[in-house]
Amino acid sequence: MNYDHILIRFGEISTKGKNRRSFIERLKQNIRLVLKDYKKVKYFSNRDRMTITLNGENPEEICSLLKNIFGIQSFSLAIKCESTLDEIKKTALTAIEGKYKPGSTFKVATKRAYKQFELNTNEMNAEIGGHILKNTEGLTVDVKNPDIPLRIEIREEATFLTIRDEKGAGGLPVGSAGKAMLMLSGGFDSPVAGFYAMKRGLSVEAVHFFSPPYTSERAKQKVIDLAGCLARFGGSMTLHIVPFTKTQELIQKQIPENYTMTATRRLMLQIADRIREERNALAIITGESLGQVASQTLESMYAINAVTATPILRPLIGMDKTEIIEKSKEIGTYETSIQPFEDCCTIFTPPSPKTRPKKEKIEHFESFVDFEPLIEEAAAGIETITIYSEQEAHDKFAELF
Ligand code: ATP
Ligand code: MG
Repeated sequence: MNYDHILIRFGEISTKGKNRRSFIERLKQNIRLVLKDYKKVKYFSNRDRMTITLNGENPEEICSLLKNIFGIQSFSLAIKCESTLDEIKKTALTAIEGKYKPGSTFKVATKRAYKQFELNTNEMNAEIGGHILKNTEGLTVDVKNPDIPLRIEIREEATFLTIRDEKGAGGLPVGSAGKAMLMLSGGFDSPVAGFYAMKRGLSVEAVHFFSPPYTSERAKQKVIDLAGCLARFGGSMTLHIVPFTKTQELIQKQIPENYTMTATRRLMLQIADRIREERNALAIITGESLGQVASQTLESMYAINAVTATPILRPLIGMDKTEIIEKSKEIGTYETSIQPFEDCCTIFTPPSPKTRPKKEKIEHFESFVDFEPLIEEAAAGIETITIYSEQEAHDKFAELF
């Protein structure tokens, strides 16, 4: 079947009043970026929806990419034809051919924006339904719960026919809510946190701390790959890789063992916050979920969070680990997160980190150490890369080494 168009319906943005125009503009840009390799595609939008003309590009491939774009409520492959009864009848039949099995049911639903069209909505439904029944075998009508909901939208300039609605990713267009920095480890949680932040319209840049030679190059590749996975939802992902070895060594040397983890997190947060400021972002996102591990008790969060007044967003706070892992499978980060390369936190985790660290105590321990030169050195050694797709994440890695 020759689907030549895709109709895209906007989600929540339809209700956003004054901002609507800029939301739609942003969504359009995001769609163009994700479909940038499909050069023949043409775009048209009005206030209710967007129409993509495929011009021969692969419909299935494009649909699978559209599924990841936030701000899309639903979309449908469509066939366009002239707004004449004969053409619509012919096209309705082709739209349904090959799409049903004996015993399948269908329903015709017509929407008539072109009021001068010769038949009204009910007459159209009956006419096209009758035409399909006459020319097919084994199909029956079910108006309540049809297998094939054939929709016909008649406009003056053209008519669009669709037989299936695909659910979109929902949410708001990435970039419509501002920018935040995602602290991205190699684990399961932080990529999922990034996904949820993007879903609500944040544009996200990632910060990763790595500690060679304690952490391997493969561990770094894992994070680059994860950034590549997330790039699917925003069109691209900028990743800042921070060399953290010296800072971690100094922590090991100068901070009492059961407080090293708290100190590590506080320093990571301070460095991430500086990058945030430089990049004009307004929040930091982490993959923390309350009570999951020693560093994620409320006391820990309080002691760590104290180094900054920047909002820290924790999209996974109410989720169980099993739910987070389920989600990681759904969004395609699971296979990468499960690779066994350890990150700097895992390696330096003390045997018994304090689960209830005291802010005053960690501040006291840190007051004997001058971390500032190392923070500056780390900041000066940051490597920043922008990744556009998973494939590119691999190429990028090859380039770096
Ligand atoms: P994750 O599955 O995301 O690794 P986790 O359950 O291992 O999380 P922690 O190790 O306590 O939990 O990390 C909590 C959060 O701190 C992570 O979700 C991430 O946002 C941030 N984080 C941890 N390690 C790093 C790192 N090496 N670089 C950047 N951010 C990190
Ligand atoms: Mg981790």
